[in-house]
Amino acid sequence: MIQSTREWFKENAKRFAFKKLEREIIKKEICVECGTCVSVCPVNAISGEWQDARYVPKLTGDCVACGLCYAFCPRTFSLDDELLGRVRDVYQVRSMLENVRRQNGGAATSFLRYLLQEKLIDAAIVAIPGNNKWRPVSSIITSPDDLQGGTFYSHIPMTTSLMEAISKGHKRIAIVGTSCNIDALEKIQSRPAGVLARSKDLEVLRLGLFCMDSFNYSKLVDFLRENSIEIDSVKRFEISKGKLRAETDAGSFEWPIADLEHLMNKSCHYCYDLTSMNADVSFGNIGSEDDWTTVIVRTKRGADLFNRMLESKTVEYEKLEQKAVFVIEKIARMKMKRRYSK
Ligand SMILES: Cc1cc2nc3c(=O)[nH]c(=O)nc-3n(C[C@H](O)[C@H](O)[C@H](O)COP(=O)(O)OP(=O)(O)OC[C@H]3O[C@@H](n4cnc5c(N)ncnc54)[C@H](O)[C@@H]3O)c2cc1C
Repeated sequence: MIQSTREWFKENAKRFAFKKLEREIIKKEICVECGTCVSVCPVNAISGEWQDARYVPKLTGDCVACGLCYAFCPRTFSLDDELLGRVRDVYQVRSMLENVRRQNGGAATSFLRYLLQEKLIDAAIVAIPGNNKWRPVSSIITSPDDLQGGTFYSHIPMTTSLMEAISKGHKRIAIVGTSCNIDALEKIQSRPAGVLARSKDLEVLRLGLFCMDSFNYSKLVDFLRENSIEIDSVKRFEISKGKLRAETDAGSFEWPIADLEHLMNKSCHYCYDLTSMNADVSFGNIGSEDDWTTVIVRTKRGADLFNRMLESKTVEYEKLEQKAVFVIEKIARMKMKRRYSK
């Protein structure tokens, strides 16, 4: 392999050997028989063999584990920009605001609060409890003191409140949402036929949340009841380290996420984006300690505004170490590959 290719790889991709491609893609018949792995192998160690009218890549020489066959396969994810999207900076952030409900470090709420306080936005679209405590609705917030954080692990039609805010005359709006919400916004903002693309003086800032899955509210209620827990008695839900935890006055209960697949929204099975890649700034917990928020700053506009908030001394922050970013990439890859096991 020529030197520049090797250097590019070191910076941009994981170097997986052919065995991984064989195990994950070829043996599971996810291979599209394009022959790319065979063609890009720099030491001609892979050959395509025909078996029952299928083109099957095989290792016929010595694999040097350069990573090219895995990286360029159309069904794998190992390049940095495929896994996390555009990344300018990655921080862990903790709010210094007191008495504000938050899920992790409160970075999302602190950012919105700063934007409203400094009049850099006219309105924030967030999730708040609806008629039922854990069945949320979207809401338009214009006063920083009305903001409360926290996570609702279910789908919410966020775009409806955005449209309502626009119809009320708000021009500069920040909206929070999971990757599915953010993808819809990106489409209506960037495509010529999109509602948001047609209004030149409208500025919509997309704040994405990391998201592995969300639950169907009714199924979650029934499941908790089977476990003798009324959902309204839950003070906090949390998904962390592969478990759903519900905190109540009677104690803390937890279940492995792997056992809760029947509660998940079916639409989540088709999602491959852990970190809301189409956001201006993304917020999650993976990669940071429990009471800190991992923040991925992606766009110039996101960076300009977020850096101003960092300078405002309302949060503590530090750049996230590369090994923590690798953890986010690992989970992002896991989510992307999950589609293949359905
Ligand atoms: C369904 C779901 C699944 C998630 N799964 C993961 C995960 O697997 N790994 C991970 O690291 N992080 C996950 N997160 C993100 C995490 O829960 C926190 O939102 C994130 O770490 C930011 O924390 P914070 O303390 O900075 O946010 P806060 O300051 O608490 O603010 C959170 C903001 O999110 C908004 N919000 C809450 N629920 C929703 C919702 N359902 N839809 C739209 N907006 C909402 C609130 O209105 C608030 O503005 C998930 C979030 C959701 C909504």
